[in-house]
Amino acid sequence: MSVAEHQRKAEGTGPASFDVVVVGAGLGGLYALHRLRALGLTVKVFEAGGDVGGTWFWNRYPGCRCDVESMEYSYSFSNELQQEWKWPERYGTQPEILRYINHVAERFDLRRDIEFNCRVVSAFFDDAINQWSVTTERGDVVAATFCIMATGNLSTPRVPEFNGLGSFESDWYHTGLWPHEGVDFSGQRVAVVGTGSSGVQMIPHIAEQAKHLYVFQRTANFSLPACNAPLDPEKERQHKADYPERRRAAYDTPFGIAGYPPPVRKALEATPEERQQAYEEKWATGGNISFLYAFTDLLLDKSANDTAAEFVREKIRRTVRDPAVAELLSPKDHPIGTKRLILDTNYYETYNRDNVTLVDARSDPIEQITPAGVRTRAREYAVDSIAFATGYDAMTGAMLEIDIRTSSGANLREKWSASPRTYMGIMVAAFPNLFMITGPGSPGVKSQMILSIEQHVDWITDCIKQLRSRSLSRVEADEQAEKAWIEHVNEVAGATLYPLANSWYMGANIPGKPRIFMPYVGGVAAYKNKCDEVVADGYQGFLMTSGAVNVTGDGASGDTTADADMSGK
Ligand code: NAP
Repeated sequence: MSVAEHQRKAEGTGPASFDVVVVGAGLGGLYALHRLRALGLTVKVFEAGGDVGGTWFWNRYPGCRCDVESMEYSYSFSNELQQEWKWPERYGTQPEILRYINHVAERFDLRRDIEFNCRVVSAFFDDAINQWSVTTERGDVVAATFCIMATGNLSTPRVPEFNGLGSFESDWYHTGLWPHEGVDFSGQRVAVVGTGSSGVQMIPHIAEQAKHLYVFQRTANFSLPACNAPLDPEKERQHKADYPERRRAAYDTPFGIAGYPPPVRKALEATPEERQQAYEEKWATGGNISFLYAFTDLLLDKSANDTAAEFVREKIRRTVRDPAVAELLSPKDHPIGTKRLILDTNYYETYNRDNVTLVDARSDPIEQITPAGVRTRAREYAVDSIAFATGYDAMTGAMLEIDIRTSSGANLREKWSASPRTYMGIMVAAFPNLFMITGPGSPGVKSQMILSIEQHVDWITDCIKQLRSRSLSRVEADEQAEKAWIEHVNEVAGATLYPLANSWYMGANIPGKPRIFMPYVGGVAAYKNKCDEVVADGYQGFLMTSGAVNVTGDGASGDTTADADMSGK
């Protein structure tokens, strides 16, 4: 039912009212809708895009593919679904993943509660009535007891503010806003700006089509062979036979993926020959987690990390025929794995093609986009199209695009002006009944995302269920608990090599953004234990109270008294 229909149906003149508003219909928002509905709650989902899928709806650039294996990168909540769905390849392509998400939306009849092409612009919590008012770009306002931000971590595309972009006479694109009809680069001179995961995936495909491709690289990144292949039917059969146990076991691992034997020794305890052999084996089988699992200390000890980094640099030198190009492609400014470790197919080989030129945008930065192309400090490159693979305002961008405030004077943009502050990446103190799915301070982006999404949605749903069972309707994170959690997140990150890289994890890709390491890197297992302990201790660090308005789902009580503190600790 649309908001307008709901409003018409509702008596009186106030805004349409729901138990929960969910912002975003990507993998997180869809699962949240499914779980909350099952609780008997009324739910409205707003989605800026024209259909379901989130990141997989928008990212349609050539070569777009997930870097987590498809048997893992899928929902676990329905065994029938995971048994019946057939993934054709080891790593899912964007069209394949989007087909899967559409199937899920249809199978669980999710679309009827989603309003598409509807971007949320503000959310306001009124303490007096314990209610969020959520306003969309179209001016619709809906009320809800709870608001869940399923807005994604990499959903605010960023094109650097290049002088003259508006003057460019041909077409330009961003990987995260790719035209649905695709782009035919045949016969064109094309510029790709950016060599992160998106650029590295796209470059070999564009090189095959374009007359000439100029790649503007500012910072070289480490990339490993994906070793993609059709899914082996026997492996698939075995995986499906073990699915429930594998999914459970994934929660006991650092990255949320089971099936990789954990490393047992340090890199520097092995001989150079043993290290070489270990890295060669990982290189030959593909996968980023597998590679970082070669030794225990690759993300903790710079000297250990150097051995792995040098192994990859040597591979680049052996693959790329022009030594000067190979040198430029060899990352030297950050430890391997401290930025997202990329998986590719034929990336380095692409630089052996005659129609590909690597431009060093570090020593010769882009100064201007001209009507005819890209001008660096040294020269102008005439091109027919520009594809920006310049990334995202990651982790906080989508939440901060929405004006989130409360009647008590809390303002998220102000609160996060120095760094994102959350309790466990799930809630923000002073913002009652506002949840995030895989927010900053959680392992989300450092894990198998769908596992973390499911864990957060399950946690949030259980929390709402708990409130209802106790005739309560308000939950908020305690300021001190939040402070202690942030200190813990920082302490854990500080013991690793992660902060040494200028990564989007650090906010370093956005000029002026506070530099703070945002994800929790203590591992999925430690994090899940913490979340479970919090619940076992009566929602420790969360204040549960009776708000003015109650949840209406089946079994909810009609208690409307305010401020009876019946919280956990
Ligand atoms: P990204 O990793 O942030 O890379 C952006 C690239 O643009 C960097 O190479 C950056 O250079 C460059 N850039 C930015 N501004 C520039 C400028 N003014 N001049 C020249 N170069 C500039 O973004 P992304 O590649 O879209 O990837 C973001 C994340 O999305 C990934 O880390 C990954 O988590 C996810 N992703 C995953 C997949 C997958 O599953 N396979 C695919 C795509 C994306 P600097 O490094 O010098 O700033």
